[in-house]
Amino acid sequence: MKIVIMGPPASGKGTQSKKISDKYGIKHISTGSLLRDCVSENNKKSELIGAILSSGNLVPDRLINKILYERISKMNDFILDGYPRNLKQAKLLCKKVDLNAVILVDVEENDLLQRIKNRRVCSNCEQSLNVSQLIDGKCPYCNSDVEIRNDDKEEVFRKRFSIYTSENEPIIKFFEKKNLLYRVKGDSIEEVFENIVKTLDEVVE
Ligand code: AMP
Repeated sequence: MKIVIMGPPASGKGTQSKKISDKYGIKHISTGSLLRDCVSENNKKSELIGAILSSGNLVPDRLINKILYERISKMNDFILDGYPRNLKQAKLLCKKVDLNAVILVDVEENDLLQRIKNRRVCSNCEQSLNVSQLIDGKCPYCNSDVEIRNDDKEEVFRKRFSIYTSENEPIIKFFEKKNLLYRVKGDSIEEVFENIVKTLDEVVE
């Protein structure tokens, strides 16, 4: 099974990828992680990639394409997260790979904002937490102070969401036209996952 997972920031795409990977025994390929692995190799290319990652810009297509297709060319099953990021990448992916489905974790902007408002991170152990988990306002694991992540501030989130929407709209339309797109909703991690499983079970029937 060859799947792409897409979704806005804080939609829980990473968590869902891991759950899908565990349930179906398929590898989770995150292009962000592949690039971070390259950075630790310590050569000329890794320096260039490191500089781009820390600038927050996208890595040039030819670079990410080479790294990704080398990795997945012999794989029969995977769940791909972080790729495609533009229409050119989407078109190339469809040429190179016979995709079964593109899962879009579809969460409304205001619901995401609500989630983000309740998210904290421990200043010591860096565990991501929901305010309901805090004990006397502190981290339940190491009793340290917690902070609001910089990119979880409302104005930063709204900006990330609007960039996501404008960049992903053409990709979503492209996959829709190819009848590959499945929009999956849900109010909780478990509900979204149940709906993904239902979708995938129908797709591979
Ligand atoms: P992520 O972990 O998916 O947020 O990706 C981290 C960083 O890796 C991004 O900010 C980009 O610089 C780079 N990256 C990941 N996937 C791609 C891609 N498909 N195309 C270009 N750059 C990418």
